[in-house]
Amino acid sequence: MKARHDQHFLIDKNAIGRIADTEDVKGKVVLEIGPGNGALTRALLDRGATVHAVELDGMLCDELAERFSTEITEGRLTVTHGDATKCPLPPFEMVVSNLPYSASSKITFRLLDMGFKVAVLMYQQEFAERMAAPAGTKDCGRLSIMVQTYATVQRCFTLPPGCFSPKPQVHSMVVKIVPRPPIFWVNDKKRYAAVVLALFTHRRKTVRNCLRGSSGILDREWTERVIAALPEEILKSRPEELYLEDFATIANFE
Ligand code: SAH
Repeated sequence: MKARHDQHFLIDKNAIGRIADTEDVKGKVVLEIGPGNGALTRALLDRGATVHAVELDGMLCDELAERFSTEITEGRLTVTHGDATKCPLPPFEMVVSNLPYSASSKITFRLLDMGFKVAVLMYQQEFAERMAAPAGTKDCGRLSIMVQTYATVQRCFTLPPGCFSPKPQVHSMVVKIVPRPPIFWVNDKKRYAAVVLALFTHRRKTVRNCLRGSSGILDREWTERVIAALPEEILKSRPEELYLEDFATIANFE
């Protein structure tokens, strides 16, 4: 069953506690995307966080406003009705969220763009595994490369469907994301993103053929010059075989 707005609410007390305890939130300003009925919100507030919650479902926002009226009055909680993929987000230093699965990718990239100290995020397990897959392994893809260029990703623990109501069809995984500067210098972030996109559009092809077939994503003339200059070692590899460093080597070419 496909739940409306991806709504799978946490009902397992132990699981809620583990998520809230993954990082010390006391005295911190925490963004929570998709608070739902506020189970995780409550745990974060109990641990001394100030929470800015952003929820897409207006009915849930009304319920949260009622349930947490004291905390809202005290200024410890704000509830914003909006779509976290695009609405203005209040300032925050940390993120702790059980994310809506269909918007996982968009929200993750948006958060990385905005910057934060640490995020504890729950995803579908398969999505989380792909995000954490190191460059050079067969599970790595655009998501892993883009996230790991700008952050470290650490798997924390998995949660079975029974922790939620209604039960999702898949396991979930909590990961910790800590932004850091890229390990390999990135000259132009836009071009870097375009190179990673072009390479993973056809993951079974070689780097040479991915670059050749990248019109619409990368500049033709630039691509030809890159192909002429890159070592054969890189050109004949498949994108999933590249080291993280190789993506920067390609993108930094002038
Ligand atoms: N955090 C709660 C609910 C998780 S379910 C818990 O763990 O129990 C995901 C929540 O995200 C739902 O409340 C859903 O309404 C909300 N949601 C879905 N898409 C959203 C979006 N684009 N922006 C903000 N919230 C969204």
